[in-house]
Amino acid sequence: MLAQIRSIVGEKNFSTRIADLYTYGFDASIHHRTPDVVVQPRTTEQVSRILRFANENRIPVLARGGGTGLCGSAVPIKGGIVMDMTKMNQIKEIRVEDLYCVVGPGVIYDKLNEALAPYGFFFPPTPGSGEACTIGGMVATNASGMRAIKYGATRDYVLGLEVVLANGEVIRTGTRTIKNSSGYQLERLFVGSEGTLGIITEVTLRIAPKPKKSAMAVAAFDSLEKAGRCVSAIIAKPLIPSAIELMDRICIKAVNKTMHVGFPDCEALCLIEVDGDPKVVEDEVKEVHTICKEIGAISVEFSTDPKQMAKWTAGRKAVLPALSRYGDEYVSVSLADDMSVPISKIPETVVAFQKIAERNNVIVGTYGHAADGNLHTKMLLNPLSEESWKNGEKAVAEIFEAVIAVGGTVTGEHGVGISKAPYMKKERESILGVMKAIKQTLDPNNILNPGKLMEWEGSIIRYLRYPCRDFA
Ligand SMILES: Cc1cc2nc3c(=O)[nH]c(=O)nc-3n(C[C@H](O)[C@H](O)[C@H](O)COP(=O)(O)OP(=O)(O)OC[C@H]3O[C@@H](n4cnc5c(N)ncnc54)[C@H](O)[C@@H]3O)c2cc1C
Repeated sequence: MLAQIRSIVGEKNFSTRIADLYTYGFDASIHHRTPDVVVQPRTTEQVSRILRFANENRIPVLARGGGTGLCGSAVPIKGGIVMDMTKMNQIKEIRVEDLYCVVGPGVIYDKLNEALAPYGFFFPPTPGSGEACTIGGMVATNASGMRAIKYGATRDYVLGLEVVLANGEVIRTGTRTIKNSSGYQLERLFVGSEGTLGIITEVTLRIAPKPKKSAMAVAAFDSLEKAGRCVSAIIAKPLIPSAIELMDRICIKAVNKTMHVGFPDCEALCLIEVDGDPKVVEDEVKEVHTICKEIGAISVEFSTDPKQMAKWTAGRKAVLPALSRYGDEYVSVSLADDMSVPISKIPETVVAFQKIAERNNVIVGTYGHAADGNLHTKMLLNPLSEESWKNGEKAVAEIFEAVIAVGGTVTGEHGVGISKAPYMKKERESILGVMKAIKQTLDPNNILNPGKLMEWEGSIIRYLRYPCRDFA
């Protein structure tokens, strides 16, 4: 079988070396499982031939982009073939007059925006992992980021897809037009499918003109609750900022310690960005200042200097790695990391998180793209302690319960994978039957990323990447 797979992609694009297999068993989540073989296809035809072969022989296949996923969606828990899509990384067309571009799934997000910049256009979702994640991975997880409140998520930009189905059949969904009412909107079905329904081999994306000016503010507060209220007060004004990032004391402390960004030493802060026409930006800056002061901000600092704004943004993006250096015995783990709540529910939700952390004896850093209600928490756990993992798992269940109770969702942008699967099943109980029926129709032999999403059973602290046994 290995010889047949090798003959499809060629010797150079095939590996069973132990070091490669071990490496391809990770994404950026807490999970790990070693696959049997790694391939790097260069063409849709190669993807199709591998899938046909795998389907006939019932071999699991997992598509992989940058491997930056935070919930285990790119971890091959059933072994089999990992299909690294990063060599299909051509930017095939940029048509600013038609507002679209056509790219291979392996194109890195930042590289696409570098290519669009000379035209004055961009692909806006802005994930924090933009320098490493791929367009295919973004489509498969419906990724977004700090600018979703104004510019939307990846799904809002997918005009069309080329997809290889489990049996090797190649289909083209959607169009290259801005509007399309021609039959089922199947491209939407593959958005967020996490490699379980087909492998994306080409993406047609809508693109947007870059804003002419932007300004940023750092507003400091003496409570997390006030920072949360500031977010909804700005939105309700009404004022749609391009971003509001929220950080609690734990995150501010971690970033100041490792990055020397000089964020104010306070309980919570909001990093607020507005963009657009220069006159509008000027007016919105004044409005933001007034609202922050009305809510009780201790200080509000503004900047339109690109260097200063980039420094603040880098500080916010560094929260995740900075938290890992919070204390020697801890690692920062992606558990309950990506929930979304209605914007007005942010204050009560962040306060609930703090209480859950205290009750379960875990350290939880809270931050996130608060303007669209998307909160991130990172738990600091001792990876060698069973008690620490069990406390974490209990806190996760309580956090998701609180999120679902206020009408939220367990994942706003990172996807389900393993670490959110049991909670997604609770949240989406009424559609699980339809999800299973779609999967059965498109992948009857269950070869595509098996065992994930609605198929996951049991505890999430399994297939751990840490040198400890699974505490299931
Ligand atoms: C530091 C950091 C910051 C992050 N910030 C954000 C953020 O702000 N917003 C956000 O949304 N996410 C964020 N993420 C999570 C992650 O970057 C996104 O989920 C991203 O979209 C994953 O892309 P990837 O190419 O790395 O995909 P991978 O991790 O390789 O794969 C993710 C899923 O997509 C599937 N997949 C990949 N390529 C294909 C394909 N061609 N066809 C079918 N399925 C495919 C995989 O099977 C898997 O299920 C962050 C991650 C890190 C480490």
